[in-house]
Amino acid sequence: MHEMSLVQGLLGQLHKLAREHNKEKVISVCMEIGPLSGVVIDSFQFGFDILAKDEALTRDAKLIIDSPPATYRCFGCGMEIKAEQRPESCLHCSETLFSPEGSDDLVLLRVEME
Ligand SMILES: [Zn+2]
Repeated sequence: MHEMSLVQGLLGQLHKLAREHNKEKVISVCMEIGPLSGVVIDSFQFGFDILAKDEALTRDAKLIIDSPPATYRCFGCGMEIKAEQRPESCLHCSETLFSPEGSDDLVLLRVEME
């Protein structure tokens, strides 16, 4: 599962941060996962639940995932539609071709440690 290696990357980042700031416990982690990243949020959460429990640093950490919707730009009239999934057709001109726009990044927004 692709998400597992992403979670491993995140945990590595958390360990590094904890070392840098002399912290022993991660309370919460807030991530933004771009709509075009291809990451399945549920799988990411699932992977985090499993891997984080293995380590004292992240055992009680709460993962908060923010996933902004993608924007689909209509090829016909240029209208932008915000949606979780590619729309079937444009409300304005019935065009069925869209170009998805949005972030494909995973961004660590905030970490709370103690
Ligand atoms: Zn249109």
